[in-house]
Amino acid sequence: MKNIKDFDLADLQEELVAVGEKKFRAEQIFKWLYVDKVMSFDEMTNLSLDLRNKLKENYTICNYKILKKQESSDGTKKYLFDVLDGNAIETVLMQYHHGKTICVSSQIGCKMGCKFCASTGIKFERNLTPGEIVEQILAVEQDIGDKISNVVFMGIGEPLDNYDNVIKAIRILNNQKGLNIGARHISVSTSGLVPRIYDLANENIQCTLSISLHATTDEKRSSMMPVNNRYNITELMKACKDYIKITNKRISFEYALAKDNNDNLNDAKQLVNLLKGMLCHVNLIPINKIENGQYSKSTNENIIKFRDYLNDNGIVATIRRELGSDIDAACGQLRRKNLKN
Ligand code: SAH
Repeated sequence: MKNIKDFDLADLQEELVAVGEKKFRAEQIFKWLYVDKVMSFDEMTNLSLDLRNKLKENYTICNYKILKKQESSDGTKKYLFDVLDGNAIETVLMQYHHGKTICVSSQIGCKMGCKFCASTGIKFERNLTPGEIVEQILAVEQDIGDKISNVVFMGIGEPLDNYDNVIKAIRILNNQKGLNIGARHISVSTSGLVPRIYDLANENIQCTLSISLHATTDEKRSSMMPVNNRYNITELMKACKDYIKITNKRISFEYALAKDNNDNLNDAKQLVNLLKGMLCHVNLIPINKIENGQYSKSTNENIIKFRDYLNDNGIVATIRRELGSDIDAACGQLRRKNLKN
């Protein structure tokens, strides 16, 4: 059976018209799902009994069950959801002054193999569907009884490696007749799949693009991120510049600082050279050491020096506040969970 939440509004209209229903029914269903947030077709009381039965026979409403919930001392919550096929995924809720941000997973497992990330080293299982991505937001909203204001695709998986489903999920989240999360409040983070960066530039979606850069030379970046062997820094930077030209939007570069690896002033200088004149922002992430990982966190002193050097040289840089590390919910700490074994 198909998951009704896998459809964006345009698809749902098409789907219903194809089975002889009126187009406006799609909007009604969309409103039930994403404004009223009902959990069954029976609750969609402005649809005829006949249509409700038809929907029940042909579609499911994917409602996640919370398998586990952990809360950090800083208010961050990590959820483990049962995705109903023997797998489980992690989703993180962060509470900032400006609102609630949810960090969603886009795949079960990840193929990218970044050396510093806990999602690496476990078998890639499959892509999440649009509905399975959207459900992470709905399930968390239901749990906390409050609205999510920002969504970041920074959980498990490479969002641009699941491109079509991620774009569809963004269209569902973004739809004003549904959850109505503004595209400016949605960030997509990529390890640097160059062709997909061009695709995204041409989608006409106002979401923010984050690039996981982490190093300024091919040698170092390849040693940290195997994807750099496929698309090197020159190709990546060209794609970023073209993205800015096409969209007129600022890019956010993520740079995880690892002690004695990429955190000295020479690295900062090279980063300035690479980014000079670009419409961008640098997000410095104190790297989180993973089990058996070769990288450890830079000292606070180095992190601040690094940031100050960038700021003094015309690159806007901020240090990402670390949230949820006590419950393994911080950057790079999420792991794929399998219920089968
Ligand atoms: N696959 C996407 C999104 C997932 S990771 C990407 O690569 O961008 C979200 C961010 O956390 C990325 O910038 C990633 O490089 C970073 N990250 C991964 N492991 C980390 C760790 N151990 N410490 C700090 N940041 C990490």
